[in-house]
Amino acid sequence: MTALPPKSKVKMGLVIDLDTCVGCHACAVACKEWNAGGFSAPLTDEQPYGKDPTGIWFNRVHSYEVAATDFTTPAFDPHAAAAPAPAPAVATATACASANSLVQEVMQPAMTLHFPRSCLHCEQPACVTVCPTGASYKRAEDGIVLVDEAKCIGCKLCSWACPYGAREYSPVEGVMKKCTLCIDRIYNENLEEAERQPACVQACPTKARHFGDLGDPESKVSKLVAARGGVDLMPTLGYKPVNQYLPPRPRRAGGAVPAAATPARATEESLDTDALPPVLRWLDRVLSR
Ligand code: SF4
Ligand code: SF4
Ligand code: SF4
Repeated sequence: MTALPPKSKVKMGLVIDLDTCVGCHACAVACKEWNAGGFSAPLTDEQPYGKDPTGIWFNRVHSYEVAATDFTTPAFDPHAAAAPAPAPAVATATACASANSLVQEVMQPAMTLHFPRSCLHCEQPACVTVCPTGASYKRAEDGIVLVDEAKCIGCKLCSWACPYGAREYSPVEGVMKKCTLCIDRIYNENLEEAERQPACVQACPTKARHFGDLGDPESKVSKLVAARGGVDLMPTLGYKPVNQYLPPRPRRAGGAVPAAATPARATEESLDTDALPPVLRWLDRVLSR
């Protein structure tokens, strides 16, 4: 099994804005294009034009239709979409008067949510500690989680350990691969300084992706996370993802938009998934299955 390095002050990672992501897949394509020729190359595709194509994508974008939902229902099941949808909830003066911000928060009109998924470069990555050969490792200097393919025996233990589905196995090479945080771009002195960013960040047309040091509270990304109430994915697992997601801003549901529906950033001490914005609560449940 593989040991983790001492905790690093520098935590390089991504911040992904679920409010402005439009699901265009530009990030996924740019990632594939850059990494197919870089550190983790090749990223092979099998039967790309066949009935059952498979291939390696470090970044995948999933789109969900979120029904208009009353999130006050305690046992809300996102997969019960086939059941008759509840009538779109509308904040009423009476309800608002009695439960104010809670009632406003649970009035979630129908929406489409685009969810880009790649490695979160966790602080406590079981994908590393479970690795029997040391192939999976976390860098001490910046916290980036990588795979040394020369040491990988393709046992797939890491992909079983990763709760985010962020590992990508190459059946062609028999080794595991994953997002490298574009390690061969971000420190590449042959590139202009402005281009020393992950390919996915550079390609995003809506600027929904941000890159920086989340270990530095004064960095732009940390300030963005603080201002927008960024959250970890599935914090209860204790993997402590470095990457953060910014929740969608509240949509209008026929009533006033709540003034401050975004919570403070979830911390170790105040871990409460029930306190997440409704859409992230739903996403947490989907990913937890
Ligand atoms: Fe490992 Fe998965 Fe965390 Fe990435 S997201 S560091 S692959 S556990
Ligand atoms: Fe792909 Fe680089 Fe973005 Fe990771 S940081 S998802 S490797 S483009
Ligand atoms: Fe979303 Fe930006 Fe990726 Fe397009 S490029 S899917 S907007 S994160």
